[in-house]
Formats: sequence, C-alpha cells, structure tokens
Amino acid sequence: MAKYSTGSGGGGSGESCELCGASGVETKSAKVAGAQLEVCSDCAQHDDNTKGDQQSERETDRKKRAAQNAARMHDATKADASHWESGADYDDDQLPYLISDYDETLTSARQDAGYQLEELAEELNIEESDVLALEQGRATQAGVGGSVVAALEEFLDIQLAKDQS
Ligand SMILES: [Zn+2]
Repeated sequence: MAKYSTGSGGGGSGESCELCGASGVETKSAKVAGAQLEVCSDCAQHDDNTKGDQQSERETDRKKRAAQNAARMHDATKADASHWESGADYDDDQLPYLISDYDETLTSARQDAGYQLEELAEELNIEESDVLALEQGRATQAGVGGSVVAALEEFLDIQLAKDQS
C-alpha cells in the first residue's frame, strides 16, 4: 500500500536513486541543482556542495567579464572625448580682416561660377545665411566664421581676406 512505490516490486530494502533511477543501491542525501535528493554514490558526485570550486571559478569569470566590459566602456568614453576635443575649435574660427569690396567680389565670383546662393552654401556645407551676410557686406555683424570665408575663397578661387604680412 505504499503510495510512493510505482511497482518496481522487487521488495527488500533496496532504495533507488532519485537522480539516475538506479535501484537496489545505497543512497544518501545530496543537494543537486538546488534540490534535496536521495541519490546513489555515483550521483552524489553531483552534489552542489562538492562543486564549490567550479562555482567560485564561474564567479571569477563573471568578475573578469565585468572588468573587461568596464574597460571597453572606458575606451569608448575616451574615443568620444577625443572626438569632442578635435571638434571644439569654434572659438578659433575668427573672421579675418576682409578686403573692402569682399561683398561684390564674392557675389560676382559666385554668379560667374553659375551658382545660386543656396546651391553654393549646400555645395560647401556652410550656412546660406553666412554667404548672404558676406554678399551684403555685413560679415562681421553676422559673426561669419573664418572657415566659411576660407571655403568660399578656395572654392571660387578668389581672395576675400586681406593679406596679413
Ligand atoms: Zn544515481
């Protein structure tokens, strides 16, 4: 009438391993994968308590990986920083001293080259409002950058800035 027996029938005092199912073996308590089981001596080797070394090894691996990830993130941060440093020279983009008729020089050079104002700005990847300010003779008031002037000079093969010798 044993409720737990599923008819291996053989009788005697033979116990069976709850892990591998071997019957008629001597069993002992072992904790396997977090479950308390009655297992044979072979299966007892899977006892969580005997795997302590492996577990601490895994722990070490995890810490190592975490450290590697942190190092990679650190590298990425450094790369970002250098990117910003190289792009942060707007303060140095000073408008040079311009020739007296730079507005007319630019306007006629652009028209000779066959460019609309917005086409030229797009071609050189500069602000249309900067080009307009130059053509209207108010580059200083508009705060046009020296790099814009240099780009226009090179592209149209003209000189807008005064020689500073
Ligand atoms: Zn077993």
